[in-house]
Amino acid sequence: MGKDKVTEEYGSLLFTDAVMQERLPKPTYKELKQVIEEGKKLDLSIANEVAHAMKEWALEKGATHYAHWFQPLTGITSEKHDSFITPKDDGSVLMSFSGKELIQGEPDASSFPSGGLRATFEARGYTAWDPSSPAFIKDEVLCIPTAFISYTGEALDKKTPLLRSQVALEGQAKRVLELFGRPAKHVMTTVGPEQEYFLIKEEDFQKRPDLIMCGRTLFGCEPVKGQELEEHYFGAIRPTVNAFMKEVDDELWKLGVPAKTKHNEVAPGQHELAPIFEQGSLAIDDNLLTMEKLKLLATHHGLACLEHEKPFDYVNGSGKHNNWSICADGKNLLEPGAQPNENLQFLVFLAALIAAVDTHADLLRMSVASAGNDHRLGANEAPPAIVSVFLGDELDEIVEALIHDEATEAHGRTRIDLGVPSLPTVLQDTTDRNRTSPFAFTGNKFEFRMCGSQQNLSDPNVVLNTAVAEQCDEFATAMAGKTGDEFTACALAWVKQTLRDHHRIIFEGNGYSEEWEQEAERRGLPNLKTTPDALPTMVKPENVAFFDKYGVLNEAEVHARYVSKAEQYSKLLNIEANTMVYMARSLYLPALFDYSGDIATSVATKAELGIEAAAEKELVKTLTNGINAIYEATADLESNNADARAVEDPQAQCDAYRDSVIPSMEHLRASVDAMEKICGADYWPVPSYNSLLFWV
Ligand code: ADP
Ligand code: MG
Repeated sequence: MGKDKVTEEYGSLLFTDAVMQERLPKPTYKELKQVIEEGKKLDLSIANEVAHAMKEWALEKGATHYAHWFQPLTGITSEKHDSFITPKDDGSVLMSFSGKELIQGEPDASSFPSGGLRATFEARGYTAWDPSSPAFIKDEVLCIPTAFISYTGEALDKKTPLLRSQVALEGQAKRVLELFGRPAKHVMTTVGPEQEYFLIKEEDFQKRPDLIMCGRTLFGCEPVKGQELEEHYFGAIRPTVNAFMKEVDDELWKLGVPAKTKHNEVAPGQHELAPIFEQGSLAIDDNLLTMEKLKLLATHHGLACLEHEKPFDYVNGSGKHNNWSICADGKNLLEPGAQPNENLQFLVFLAALIAAVDTHADLLRMSVASAGNDHRLGANEAPPAIVSVFLGDELDEIVEALIHDEATEAHGRTRIDLGVPSLPTVLQDTTDRNRTSPFAFTGNKFEFRMCGSQQNLSDPNVVLNTAVAEQCDEFATAMAGKTGDEFTACALAWVKQTLRDHHRIIFEGNGYSEEWEQEAERRGLPNLKTTPDALPTMVKPENVAFFDKYGVLNEAEVHARYVSKAEQYSKLLNIEANTMVYMARSLYLPALFDYSGDIATSVATKAELGIEAAAEKELVKTLTNGINAIYEATADLESNNADARAVEDPQAQCDAYRDSVIPSMEHLRASVDAMEKICGADYWPVPSYNSLLFWV
């Protein structure tokens, strides 16, 4: 089939617009489009017709089941498969699927985390179709993207608040566009998530309980070489990896996921996949599908895919860059236009975004907080835990000029006249992009770089969308009733004042440096270093009011999310601590007993022969001391973990894990890693970093 294979297969497992148009009666298609594009309510008779068409299409593609595909607070996706079969009296079956089954499902949701919401409302959950994300077929199952809600209407998932935040932003952005005399039919966010991951040999993976249970290594001494030669980044892709990536692309393309770029990353064994950006919630659905495919398909190639933020010490961890913009009827609002008036509009959205990030820096930080991401943020491989905005030389100069109210010529080619601002149509920063900034303007979009690789991107996008909605609201409210020159003057004044008020969030320097930490403190920017530090920001009264005002999350929902995140943090660390104790007692100590025992026997045998074995004696001593240290550190960890586990208050429990269990884990790791360095390789019970990271 050669070069046409991709075109032919692209989206073949997706219930696309083209398929709908082909298979639905015209009026039904038109109504459904209004539901999808304008958020109109779905009529049951329409749903019945859509369900029928979907089922017929799915059966032709070999599907036997359907599933409501949703995103509980665990962040990963969930699905329960129901077959289409309806037995008839004569013993045969019909394949049926009703509109009701399409639009609403009732998973037995009692086992998903709800942060206490379900108990509070004594409500069961149901799933509701999100028509803005097309249905798809995965392993012979027709998957219907859904939101997961309690019967009293509370969001029990990651998607519902995201959709609500998109509605809020659309509404407020439309008000702004209206003021500029450019009413829009449809405003949406665009998101392009760049996904990092590691690949290791599956046989190595299977031998490491820490990787199996926790997704990261909890032990392992430094490999003989790391990433210092910088030979892996953008290097030639090995055949095994290439075959894997090819299969991933093929499978994703069938699902209509626009996988675009693949390359080797900085750390050995680390790679990245970036898609072409899409509408926000759709991009997140597709990212979740991508993560699932990466994991599953790796096994076809004898590989294991690690999506954890920090699978290995000593080399970089993995993040996920959230490229973000707003788009009105197909036009990117973060792209400066050719007309002065369009430039003013660009500046309004830019100022709104800067103000949004400054005002809610704490919530943005909170939105990416997790036990896994705590290993990255601020560790000289990822942006610090301090949120700041990078604009690039050109735009920074323009912003400075606006703040100080002076005309400027940036780089001798960008003239900005403050009466009627004019900007270059393409704001491509000429200098190297600042890789150390957590929130960087990259030409016509912003890139939020603090997100963790295994994270569901809904959380950061909820905060971002709502925060920008709030600023658009403030602008539109301040400008109400103003037109013509008065509007232009007031809008420009608003831009200048907003930039002045939020100037402290802009930082163009090295975000990894220590000086920045001190400077940020002087500027009064929050520096929430760990997850337990960041989580409480969620339930501050002003933040609860903020989510509530824009209909994104009510107080009970915010609280539930806070509790659920806190519990997840503690549970994860409990599992990590348990795994460490298990590995120390059943793998490392027995191996060291064997090794030191064999050497001791050799020392004794040599002594009988009258041979002095000084080196071996010394080694036995060191090993014995090491064994004792591991033995004690294991007991300490076990006891500190038991204490933390017994703490009832979710926040106090997180704090206990951070303050007492994590240090005990580090202590145990250090004592084991020290022994790995001197233990015979044949005795060591798990693959070392040398093997995990470097393989062909
Ligand atoms: P890099 O950060 O590696 O230089 P690119 O600039 O090529 O990468 O883009 C990275 C990601 O940003 C891609 O997923 C791309 O689709 C996405 N992107 C580009 N434009 C937009 C936009 N307007 N909105 C959201 N994402 C975008
Ligand atoms: Mg990037």
